[in-house]
Amino acid sequence: METDQSVILEVRGLRQYFPIRQGFFRRTTGHIKAVDGVSFFIRENEILGLVGESGCGKTTTGRAILRLYDPTAGEVWYRKRDGERVDIARISQQEMKPLRRELRMIFQDPYSSLNPRFTVKDIIGEPLVIHGVIRGREMEDRIAELMLAVGLDPDYMVRYTHEFSGGQRQRIGLARTLSLSPRLIIADEPVSALDVSIQAQVLNLLQELRMDLGLTLLFVAHDLSVVEHVSDRIAVMYVGKLVEMAETEVLLGQPLHPYTEALISAVPPADPDIRLDRIILAGDVPSSANPPPGCVFHPRCRYARDVCLVEEPQLAEIRPGHYASCHCAAELSLQGIGEQA
Ligand code: SF4
Repeated sequence: METDQSVILEVRGLRQYFPIRQGFFRRTTGHIKAVDGVSFFIRENEILGLVGESGCGKTTTGRAILRLYDPTAGEVWYRKRDGERVDIARISQQEMKPLRRELRMIFQDPYSSLNPRFTVKDIIGEPLVIHGVIRGREMEDRIAELMLAVGLDPDYMVRYTHEFSGGQRQRIGLARTLSLSPRLIIADEPVSALDVSIQAQVLNLLQELRMDLGLTLLFVAHDLSVVEHVSDRIAVMYVGKLVEMAETEVLLGQPLHPYTEALISAVPPADPDIRLDRIILAGDVPSSANPPPGCVFHPRCRYARDVCLVEEPQLAEIRPGHYASCHCAAELSLQGIGEQA
């Protein structure tokens, strides 16, 4: 893992388990291992895409990083504006409070995440009031500036959210997120509730804001075709574990994990003349309360060998900057984008 000064966030062996309670006495009978030993890093001003099917633990990972949960185990090292490194997984909620200005989240659903009884001005200005940043006329100027930054007319600040479309509401949510000048944003499925035509506009806006404001983003999504458009690197999750991570072009062009290969095969090619050789995965995603032994992907993997049934592969750097957790990663020749015939 990276330890250089460009790394703003380093997650090491993060585990987030939730107890399963049953019976009259609500005894703990097991655990849902939503996140099970995840390690990755994000460099400053980078967009890291975190992709995987619904229920694979990617949203929980984002929430654990922001200490919306208390992690079961692992470390979350964040380099603050002043250069000091803190382990977010270990500090108290009181110590976490000032960091909440630097670490923000964009939520999935622009329809339910904004209070319909508040005006746009109230919604964007609320974090400024809570954190006691600015007030009065100065605050109105700041709200107008934020609305312009996300492509909204500041004259609309007195309107209510129901007067806006889904794409505009996501822009309002984004302006609210940006109000405290964050350094790291965790964007949890920020476009999945939007029409495809609007998705591209919001994705382009995120890219522009990253450049203009020097933001760093963890972009969480289930759709690889969305993640690939915005991410510098992509990390792939499956049943609570990270199975592959690399630069976007490398991961899509030369995947090293069979699960990534299957996800790539489902992405529609840019050229409609290219025939897709789609890999249909057999069976369902296993439960994170009772994951299979050995490699968690083995029941669905067409390359599985005997060792895969008993020995869990660890995430390892197979090529420089390209990590995968597969016993056969160095030997398999998997199909990437552009190789579909
Ligand atoms: Fe497939 Fe084995 Fe690799 Fe798991 S370790 S992805 S089962 S080849």
